[in-house]
Amino acid sequence: TVIVFGSINLDLVATAPRLPLPGETLLGHDFLKVPGGKGANQAVALARLGIPTQMVGRVGAQSFSAELIESLQAAAVQTENVLVDETVSSGVAIIIIDDTGQNQIVVIPGANGCVNQEDVTRMSRLLPESSALLLQLEIPLSTVVAAAQTAKTAGVTVILDPAPAQSNLPNELYPLVDIITPNEVEAGQLVGFPVDGQESAKKAAEALLNRGVKNAIVKLGAQGVVCATSAETFFVPAFPVKAVDTVAAGDAFNGGLAAAISQGLPLRQAIVWGAAAGAIAATKLGAQTSLPDRLTFDTFLKE
Ligand code: ADP
Repeated sequence: TVIVFGSINLDLVATAPRLPLPGETLLGHDFLKVPGGKGANQAVALARLGIPTQMVGRVGAQSFSAELIESLQAAAVQTENVLVDETVSSGVAIIIIDDTGQNQIVVIPGANGCVNQEDVTRMSRLLPESSALLLQLEIPLSTVVAAAQTAKTAGVTVILDPAPAQSNLPNELYPLVDIITPNEVEAGQLVGFPVDGQESAKKAAEALLNRGVKNAIVKLGAQGVVCATSAETFFVPAFPVKAVDTVAAGDAFNGGLAAAISQGLPLRQAIVWGAAAGAIAATKLGAQTSLPDRLTFDTFLKE
């Protein structure tokens, strides 16, 4: 089993000819509700690849909780450890997209902001039967640290996607992480210098190693990834595909990576799985809808 401990969101998406001005009411084109949240996306990515996946987190009582849980279950994610928090709303993102593709987004963490030590305790009961724990930064940082600490003590591989970008992670978090997976922007924020391309990504990955993480993978979108381990720093190219929408490519990458790790594959192979899942996701529109199933994934890897 792989545990994903993190955010569960509903994206409320409105499309309009342009973004409204302050105080203005605009007539839009369309409205769409899409399940999201980096945690939930990564859980769906894993489950679609056929990996037994436990989601641990919270949804709110008043709004959307049933449909968020149902969408996880529809992807075969186990949800017994998703708590319905009666005191808050579910995490939501209110998104407006204009005809040129520009957007405006307000995120309400809601229940995600309430994930705490109680949830870490529930999560810790799953550790004896688990091979990996996936974390992101859409729940409180203190909870992320506590979860990593608990998993580390249990000998379970800790994978941290430091997204959304954050410049100050607590120093004690780094040594608890087996694999950290920032993209260029996130890596730049963490290390304090711009990361753009392979050379700076290598420096960033090595800087992250110096802070105590065991392995650092910097995701460079269509270029590929740079990985630093205690033994070597190497580059893995991306799969050449025709990208349509790279939303959730990073989540797909982490799902593929964790799927391989949970099957006992070596890190290089796990990166190839991550890159394959990311590339497939980039060829399809949407977030969770673009994540590959196992058949699509296996066929892609064989070609
Ligand atoms: P994030 O979504 O976190 O910003 P990236 O955009 O770097 O992350 O995408 C994650 C991974 O998905 C990449 O490292 C790469 O393996 C794959 N990927 C993303 N975009 C493309 C693309 N256009 N072509 C091929 N692979 C891609």
